[in-house]
Amino acid sequence: MIGAGVAGCALAAGLRRGGWDGPIDLWEAGRGPGGRAATRRCRQDVAWHIDHGAPLLNLLEDPEPKLVAPLREGGWIVPWREPAAALQADGTLGPAAADPLLGGSLYRGRQGMDGLCRGLLALAEAQGPPPSPTGHYGTLVRHLAVRHEGGWRLADANGAVLGDADWLVLTGTLLAHPRAMERFGWSEVPLLQATEGLDDGDLASALAALARMEMEARTNLMLTIKPAAAARWLSLPFRLLSFDREAQGRWGLRRLAIQPLADGRCGVVAHGVPAADGPAMAALEGAVAGALEPWLGERPCGGEALAGVSQRQLMHWGAAFPVAPGLPPAAMVCPASRVAFCGDFIAGAGFGRIEGALRSAQALAGRLLALALLLCLSLGGPALAAAAGAVPYRCDGDLLLATSDNGAVDAPGIPNTTGGTVPGATVLLEWRDLRLQLPRTNNAGPPSYTDGLWWWSLEDPQQPRFLHRRGAIEQFSCQAVAAATPPADGH
Ligand SMILES: Cc1cc2nc3c(=O)[nH]c(=O)nc-3n(C[C@H](O)[C@H](O)[C@H](O)COP(=O)(O)OP(=O)(O)OC[C@H]3O[C@@H](n4cnc5c(N)ncnc54)[C@H](O)[C@@H]3O)c2cc1C
Repeated sequence: MIGAGVAGCALAAGLRRGGWDGPIDLWEAGRGPGGRAATRRCRQDVAWHIDHGAPLLNLLEDPEPKLVAPLREGGWIVPWREPAAALQADGTLGPAAADPLLGGSLYRGRQGMDGLCRGLLALAEAQGPPPSPTGHYGTLVRHLAVRHEGGWRLADANGAVLGDADWLVLTGTLLAHPRAMERFGWSEVPLLQATEGLDDGDLASALAALARMEMEARTNLMLTIKPAAAARWLSLPFRLLSFDREAQGRWGLRRLAIQPLADGRCGVVAHGVPAADGPAMAALEGAVAGALEPWLGERPCGGEALAGVSQRQLMHWGAAFPVAPGLPPAAMVCPASRVAFCGDFIAGAGFGRIEGALRSAQALAGRLLALALLLCLSLGGPALAAAAGAVPYRCDGDLLLATSDNGAVDAPGIPNTTGGTVPGATVLLEWRDLRLQLPRTNNAGPPSYTDGLWWWSLEDPQQPRFLHRRGAIEQFSCQAVAAATPPADGH
């Protein structure tokens, strides 16, 4: 996996919790896990830490991603209950309800946002005995190559081999998007170049969709405030201040996060409005002082915009937020080239937020595990499937397992018992991250099952009909999985 942000760490946890016991390697350019939800720390000043990207996470959609409950139970994330407000252009405060980053259930990492990723890795490790995912931090993967024998080779900027892998998961877009050519002067898009001769239509359309994707940049100003001045910041009526549209126009700021430190200091992070190069440090500090003048008072003498600042730093996020529509979920897995994608840039619930990174990783873990199972089933033949009590199908490229259950049904005299099933029986369908239990219909003919939204019927047992009603009716193409003979080389 390239990237140990939320998506990479969640994918490692999801794969391990789903039973994958093969090696997992995470390659990360940053010094530790977290990505855009990282916490900046300092070895010489252990009390100091600052969340320089996402200050919190919010969950808007039900059900919550599966990894959230174990993270909460393990104390890795805690509810975020700080006061929030929205600043309007006339300098008055209103409720922050309109901010899409502040709706739903709010959480933050314990002792910093990187607690979220550390927690995800701990969940992956807790699954022992398979070895823990190996993190390679401070390592930028610059070059990719397809290995002659299949799989991938990763190399650094000097061409030195970093490692080999059977599958490659990109949790960021850097290696697949032309922006790195502009930003870092790279001569090529690494994944595009590596796969030129592969003739994989799935990957070609995924890369085309990624190339069209735009990213919003952000420049954040990070301030450390000395204890005497911090008391004033910490008594403000908000810990998170979002700027409404007009206020953003007036001050050039999007949000302000005030983060208390254990020794009485506080961190303040001012998120600038989207800008390619971002404003300079002094301009951002001036904007903060101007916006907060009603609460902090007049600017200090001596040329500084804010009083009591002990440290100033800028953080420029070249790709802070992906711009919709994002990569379609159907393009997340390219089995022919053994490449997969996950991250907040996948279209769907939570897009552009931590919630999306978690959900995409959950979906990808399900699909990769299903592929692994599909491979086992096709190599092991019908005996394995029968042992599992499930019939395997491939539906729209992904494994579907169908388990019929006649249940405790006492139905003498019910006319339609075709296929040994009676009304009251059910079928359990496991497909992607869905588990559907559909009741048997009383329709004449071969068994059919529906809950009103989903339909499964076996007119042709080799090609069941699998439909979903969502306004229009969507049909998925399903075929029974045939047993394959193991390849001649025994692998
Ligand atoms: C300023 C800011 C504020 C935000 N506020 C919020 C908020 O309030 N709420 C919210 O939900 N979300 C917020 N977000 C968005 C949130 O941070 C992201 O949605 C989330 O962290 C994305 O996680 P990810 O794993 O998909 O991607 P990332 O965190 O970007 O992880 C990808 C990782 O891959 C690594 N990587 C990429 N290419 C390579 C390579 N070639 N070699 C090695 N490593 C590589 C990167 O270093 C990175 O760590 C904010 C983001 C920013 C920038």
